[in-house]
Amino acid sequence: MQLQEFLNSAAQQHMVVADSLAFGEFQSFPFTMNPHVRNNEVTSVTALFKVAGTLPNKVFSDLRKNLKPLGSLAYQGTDKSMILFTCAGSDADLWNKLTMGFTQITQCFWANGIGVPQQCPLCHNGGCDSLAFVGGYVPVHASCVQNQAYGAIAQAENNRQTGNYALGILGALLGALVGSIPTVLLMLFLHMISAWLYALIPLGAYYGYKLCKGKMVKGVVIPVVVILSLLMVMVVELTVTYISVGREYKWWMSVGEFLVRYFDAMSFGDIMMDIGMPLLFTALGIFISWDQIRRSNIDIETSADLTLKSLFRKNAGM
Ligand SMILES: [Zn+2]
Repeated sequence: MQLQEFLNSAAQQHMVVADSLAFGEFQSFPFTMNPHVRNNEVTSVTALFKVAGTLPNKVFSDLRKNLKPLGSLAYQGTDKSMILFTCAGSDADLWNKLTMGFTQITQCFWANGIGVPQQCPLCHNGGCDSLAFVGGYVPVHASCVQNQAYGAIAQAENNRQTGNYALGILGALLGALVGSIPTVLLMLFLHMISAWLYALIPLGAYYGYKLCKGKMVKGVVIPVVVILSLLMVMVVELTVTYISVGREYKWWMSVGEFLVRYFDAMSFGDIMMDIGMPLLFTALGIFISWDQIRRSNIDIETSADLTLKSLFRKNAGM
């Protein structure tokens, strides 16, 4: 079954189709279907149920065992309110497996008092009037989704027109500097290093770039954040060494003299030894914030657009 056939078939079953995802409800439980395509053929589908409450561990593992012949059951990451069901197959066989799996899963939800989230994830109030894809396919207020999505699109458009690279880079530099302060303080006063604090450097650079209205273009934001973070690690190393030497020997030489002596005394290998661990931690910080850092204007618009396309109005007071 090709992707388009799969999506057409989903639409015939009254699901909402947006991009390559399908959204629907089974026994009142909203779900997202994400078909996986190989060589132009849909080979498997992962369905996501976002529910209110969590299944007891024993119930979940029993359910997983029972579903084995149909597919695999898992949580999305560590979030036990996000339940993923993946099954492989082709054509009618795939749809049959999905239906049988959904029947068992939703019966298990009912039997264990697991319900559908009642609060809109955007305003945290009840009385939802629609469904939309916000992390999972969940009850929302149509107005909340529209406000947020159109707001994000307008902001991205505004950034495209008025965003400025120079201001962004300046902001990233200030942000990285602010982000490095906790690391420097911890080293000087407690003689400790913390991986998590190093991770603040790239985050600081990213938010500095964003706050100073830097143009959000992937090819610029990522290198700016990475290069400035690495530079800042070197600055932190130099600052801490300078102050340590000053305190130890009561000798506060000029910064220029210090730099000459430092690079004279240290070989490239020595420097790498000293900043190897911090570099690793900073890389970890970049890795942690990667999803955030790589979001360009286009990504923001694409995801806002998907949310709008997934919006399905129901009667008030769901
Ligand atoms: Zn709302």
